Amino acid sequence: MFGNNSLVNIKVFAHKENKIMTKSIENLLKMIVPAQVPLSFHIELIKVQAIIARTQLVRQCRAFGGPGCSKYKDCDICDEGHCIDIVDDSYLRQTWKDNYNEYMEKLNRAIKETEGLIITINNKPIDPKFHDTCGGSTENSEDVLGNRVVYLRKVLCNYCSNSPNWDGHKDFTLKDIEERLNINFPKLKPSLKTEIKGFVEGIEKDESGRVREIKIGGKKLKGKDVMELLGLDSTKFSVTPATIRFNTRGKGHGLGLCQYGGNQMAIEGYSYDDIINYYYTGVEIKKYEIPCINKPLSGKILMIDPGHGGEKSQDFVGPTGLREKDVVLNVSKKLKNRLEQLGAHVYLTREEDEYMSLSERVKLANKIRPNFFISIHLNSFSNPSIHGCEIYYYRNDKDSEALGKAIMGSLVNNLSIVNRGVKVADFFLLRQIGVSSLRIELDYITNPEIEEKLKDSEYINRVAESISEGIVTYYKY
Ligand SMILES: [Zn+2]
Ligand SMILES: [Zn+2]
Ligand SMILES: [Zn+2]
Repeated sequence: MFGNNSLVNIKVFAHKENKIMTKSIENLLKMIVPAQVPLSFHIELIKVQAIIARTQLVRQCRAFGGPGCSKYKDCDICDEGHCIDIVDDSYLRQTWKDNYNEYMEKLNRAIKETEGLIITINNKPIDPKFHDTCGGSTENSEDVLGNRVVYLRKVLCNYCSNSPNWDGHKDFTLKDIEERLNINFPKLKPSLKTEIKGFVEGIEKDESGRVREIKIGGKKLKGKDVMELLGLDSTKFSVTPATIRFNTRGKGHGLGLCQYGGNQMAIEGYSYDDIINYYYTGVEIKKYEIPCINKPLSGKILMIDPGHGGEKSQDFVGPTGLREKDVVLNVSKKLKNRLEQLGAHVYLTREEDEYMSLSERVKLANKIRPNFFISIHLNSFSNPSIHGCEIYYYRNDKDSEALGKAIMGSLVNNLSIVNRGVKVADFFLLRQIGVSSLRIELDYITNPEIEEKLKDSEYINRVAESISEGIVTYYKY
């Protein structure tokens, strides 16, 4: 049964009224879908758009682990336009006029009949890009965004050939183009005998500069006839180009759903899931999971990477022979258990004492695309008295830096581990992985006291518990 969606309340900032409204997801969709698609479209396409808008909301809202509005910190979305566009009822009454009742009924039906459904890949909501008219085929994400998104693949689409936006154009004056592109065209002196091949050529002037004869579009004309027919002031004339027309095919960035194409599919009898699966490659349509209060990490995907492993392992060894590869596997397994209790989906890169290359780990992470990839290691130093924890993140990754600080804080508070810093590093793993990632060097195995602690399974439990607590803290703020 899925009937609890009203439990998830979304905080919306209304900037004109300067107040926060609280709405359920399904009610909020009534303000989002009409901002994205004309309600004159087929009901199945309106359903597609309802699922798209719901997917965007679930990605955005903090209750599901989204970032919320970047401007109004206490809100999930705002109506200023930088979050997800929303419109209000008075706007809809003005726009829809006589169709208001019919369109509202259609909208409510589309939302109701897709209740709770979102588009996912690996259990995560996708970024459901859509556009007006693709003009023959949609685009691969790397050609538009620069990075490869598995579900945004090029698909052929002739369904949109009846779209009013299939062919378009826009005319610009040369001056306008110069200003917008910050360029200078070569200056043409009006006194010169300028020709535009195929259009205006063969200009013959008399000694005072009056046009005697001219060929326009292949037709020979007398200067005075051109003056009369075009209503020019004088036969002393020359030509220069002044506007350029840009002809376009389709409308929008071309990623994901082509709305006019999807609408035509609906008219031809395809259903909303056919349309979604046509334009988004390899996705699943499923009901979103309601986040639960005692499961603060629900919906989060984390990948834990116990360093080293196997015979080829170049791990560190403690004074009495304790091996780094065994300790970090132990910590990682306990961490996985604890994080799962808190609601997260957790993957380990290895579950046995086996060799795994760094590039295999990278491949796995880039396939699963977790919210965070966390490598666990121990450190070593020639001076046995050195101890403490270091956490590394990659360059400008603010999310990883914040998570690293939360985990460090928790390890320091709970276990009195010495804070040796949350720092930037350029490790192969951190650099190659396309998601936020951290490397935690828990402590120094070369310190005899630390080595003893690391042999104690109760201590390992507390390490796993503290790292989990840090992760929960990070998501709270
Ligand atoms: Zn906002
Ligand atoms: Zn199309
Ligand atoms: Zn290591």
